[in-house]
Amino acid sequence: MIEVTNLVKNYTTGSVVTKVLHGIDLSVQDGEFVSIMGKSGAGKSTLLYQMSLLDTPTSGSITISGTDIETLQGKERINFRLNNLGYVFQEYALLPDLNAEENVMLPLLMKGLSRADAQKTAQDALDNVGLAHRHFNRPSQLSGGEQQRVAVARAIAGKPTILFADEPTANLDTASGTQVIKILDQLNKDGQTIVMVTHEKEYAIYSDRIVHIEDGVIDKETTPNTL
Ligand code: ADP
Repeated sequence: MIEVTNLVKNYTTGSVVTKVLHGIDLSVQDGEFVSIMGKSGAGKSTLLYQMSLLDTPTSGSITISGTDIETLQGKERINFRLNNLGYVFQEYALLPDLNAEENVMLPLLMKGLSRADAQKTAQDALDNVGLAHRHFNRPSQLSGGEQQRVAVARAIAGKPTILFADEPTANLDTASGTQVIKILDQLNKDGQTIVMVTHEKEYAIYSDRIVHIEDGVIDKETTPNTL
């Protein structure tokens, strides 16, 4: 499903070059739930951003479902993201002036669904994350955990091939974090491929495999029962 080969990422700010990823090789299989763990600054988010087409690597290759993503330019790249990839971020990234249903509908409308279809799909996705009673609340009227569940609904409504989650539980208390990880776990059991960055073992144990990053290289790969 995802094949990362010799991935290098350097950030250049003025004349300063920060070398972050030093040649990562990683495969993610269809239906797998992979966690990326490591210390702060190890390069976890940078790796996720390259794999999810939110940033462009310095060198190396990434293929997703057989497509070499380097070949995707401009609108093609945007459409590939919209049609194949779902995103959940630590900060929820919901639009404050839209209610939950409208937030979930937005990418579906961008994909070209009719308003009626987008609305029905958004309603189903919100019901699926336990928010049947919160469709018309704006983000400020929702708890952090509820906002993150809206973000998960938004990410999955379009049935992405891969769901990318960057520290989805980091801002949440244990109860809300557990609710969110259990939703991700159920989605994965239903066949959703997930790649998640986390620094919390209590959430990484829900994944099939844990990739440990240290100073921009893969230190080791483990399974939850070895944590
Ligand atoms: P992690 O997710 O493991 O905490 P990151 O991938 O966010 O680590 O960051 C890895 C390193 O790359 C850090 O030293 C960080 O300061 C640096 N970095 C991240 N983004 C940028 C950027 N846009 N420009 C320059 N340096 C960056």
